[in-house]
Amino acid sequence: MQWSAPRNDGPSQAAGNTTGNTFIMSDIQYVAPRTLDEAIGAYAAAGSAARILAGGTDLLVQMRSGAVKPGLIVDIKKIGEMTAIEETKDGGFRVGAAVSGMALHDHPRFGKVWPGVLEAINLIGSKQVQGRASAGGNLCNASPAGDSVPALVAAGAVVTVAGPQGRRELKVEEVPAGPGRTNLKPGEIVVAFTLLPRPKGASDAYLRMIPRTEMDIAVVGCGVNLTMKGGVCTDARVGLGAVAPTVLLVEAAAKALIGSKLDEKALEAAARACSAACRPIDDKRGTIVYRTKVAGVLLRRATAIAAKRAQER
Ligand SMILES: Cc1cc2nc3c(=O)[nH]c(=O)nc-3n(C[C@H](O)[C@H](O)[C@H](O)COP(=O)(O)OP(=O)(O)OC[C@H]3O[C@@H](n4cnc5c(N)ncnc54)[C@H](O)[C@@H]3O)c2cc1C
Repeated sequence: MQWSAPRNDGPSQAAGNTTGNTFIMSDIQYVAPRTLDEAIGAYAAAGSAARILAGGTDLLVQMRSGAVKPGLIVDIKKIGEMTAIEETKDGGFRVGAAVSGMALHDHPRFGKVWPGVLEAINLIGSKQVQGRASAGGNLCNASPAGDSVPALVAAGAVVTVAGPQGRRELKVEEVPAGPGRTNLKPGEIVVAFTLLPRPKGASDAYLRMIPRTEMDIAVVGCGVNLTMKGGVCTDARVGLGAVAPTVLLVEAAAKALIGSKLDEKALEAAARACSAACRPIDDKRGTIVYRTKVAGVLLRRATAIAAKRAQER
């Protein structure tokens, strides 16, 4: 494959004034805009032929296998807003959709405040993959087994999306529509995740079941986010992955935990609620029965870790 660069025609003109590089690679064009407006312009103008490139750890694999053949690639890694991690004065976070797992890991505060979200993102692939892969890509790839998604759902993260019609906000769980499909409108790009400030005594955890020790796809993934006060759970959110066509927010499990001291009765009810929410597929990686059972087991274990962390905050 040969790259010829730079050229001034093609999608960069469609965007109006794309200042990033434009490359032509056989029948694929590549632009790397410096601003979100330019990215939206190029992406929207090219229609369904275009693909956003964040880390490329899903996209390039799909292109290589021939599953995806984009006419235009819009690289968002050079856009400041999408690669920034910002801690607000009140202790909330705004994480750009294209921030890599490694950049998030290296942030001095993020992992202290959101250890469960960080451990979920840092489970993605290897060190090499971590250097590129983003939570935005994990979400928009829309695999039900994406590791960061249950943790972000449990965290109550809000997704800012921008497109030709302007900006809007969605809950994380509203973004996936089914395996490989999202509810984003044509030309829309995920810009950032917002995580609210946490009260004292709040923490989170993410666990996944994989048949190997690493570099595998979750058979079940479970994110738990808790607030504890005087030994009592005052708030909870539970996200479950790889057990349904999209990642699930399991409100019944959270309800079982809230108001309890996370005693056996509450944990059993929450575990049952997780198992009841499962609508998994049966495949070589895990049967329906197995995934359904493991969902409850992971709920118990992730809850224990989140509760211990919450005590320490
Ligand atoms: C070796 C290897 C191991 C892996 N292990 C794991 C694992 O353990 N767990 C796991 O969950 N995943 C795993 N993955 C999959 C992949 O790394 C993750 O899904 C990753 O988070 C994708 O992020 P990315 O930035 O590379 O996305 P990209 O590949 O750049 O994009 C993925 C998709 O989302 C779209 N997209 C990206 N960003 C945006 C945006 N901001 N707005 C709109 N659309 C967007 C792209 O067009 C593309 O369709 C692995 C991949 C590899 C190659």
